[in-house]
Amino acid sequence: MARATTARIHIDALRHNLARIRAAAPHAKVMAVVKADGYGHGLERVAQALAGADAFGVAALSDAQRLRAAGFSQTIVLLSGFDEAADLAQLRQLSVATVVHHPFQLELLAADHGSPISVWLKMDSGMHRLGFPPESFAGTYRRLQSMPNVAADIVCMSHFASSDEPENPQTPDQLRCFDAHLPEGASVCSLSNSAAVLAWPAAHRQWLRAGGALYGLSVASGKTGADFGLKPAMTLSTRLISIQQVCAGERVGYAGSYLCPEDMPIGVAAIGYGDGYPRNIRPGTPALLNGRRVPIIGRVSMDLMTVDLRSQPQAAVGDELTLWGEGLPVEEIAEAAGTISYELTCSITRRVRFQED
Ligand SMILES: *Cc1c(COP(=O)(O)O)cnc(C)c1O
Repeated sequence: MARATTARIHIDALRHNLARIRAAAPHAKVMAVVKADGYGHGLERVAQALAGADAFGVAALSDAQRLRAAGFSQTIVLLSGFDEAADLAQLRQLSVATVVHHPFQLELLAADHGSPISVWLKMDSGMHRLGFPPESFAGTYRRLQSMPNVAADIVCMSHFASSDEPENPQTPDQLRCFDAHLPEGASVCSLSNSAAVLAWPAAHRQWLRAGGALYGLSVASGKTGADFGLKPAMTLSTRLISIQQVCAGERVGYAGSYLCPEDMPIGVAAIGYGDGYPRNIRPGTPALLNGRRVPIIGRVSMDLMTVDLRSQPQAAVGDELTLWGEGLPVEEIAEAAGTISYELTCSITRRVRFQED
């Protein structure tokens, strides 16, 4: 029998979440951010489900190549920008727009003499990751406008550091900075990641750049995607491959970290950190067995984990165990692992079988 570990990708949920984003900002265009293999859900599969988006955002030219090879003709934007002169030829060949965020890219463009490339010019409005300083932004914009190999309609963009925190003053600070340094005549702007789409209407502008929300992932700490009307796009599940009766006082798994308080049934499930499930979860983190919560006990190992079946004595080998998805938000598991939901869906490994439903 094939290994039962499965990531089911819910196409309807992806479409529902795109509609939810459009409803939040009906006048804006939507870039569906599909970097990191569609946040771990599968690039081509996600692009197909979200073909109604106005553009796709990727972090690597190889992803743009995959999208074009699969026949997608939408606008594609290379969010991390090009690195070297040879990338410009690829951008042209694939008809992909690029972010420009650093002076070295201006020099590469100045030395280039090909056909016009579409540019999204990035301002560092306070996150201090990528982008031109606000003071040099307008000058850079004008320099790009004067280049024959840069297309007209340069999009002005910036990225928020804290838009997932509704009370954090950094977002309004970044907004003010962006608006104050916007070049005259610049009329197409893009600021909003998922959190800003749902919580900062003043940031909507002409283009949204939504990632996590499309996959149903929460955009604020302490909340789940469902709190924002989003549906989870991934259900991760496996099956019990063994049930053991273990005596009181015996220990379970590596390092014997779980001590059985009484004689009890233990379920062994075919999933572990080799599948992308986090090893460092808090003891007692739940999984769903036949729709009801059971605690994971002992260490998560590479291929296996163990669950406490005392609440489900009728459980049988072959029963399905859900690690996250409908009924068990991935945010809850992320919190128990000291990370965010984005990292968990991105970390699913290649041996997990993907299915669409
Ligand atoms: C990843 C990314 C996004 C999407 O962010 P989410 O929080 O997933 O919505 C938007 N813009 C840029 C530049 C990004 O790199």
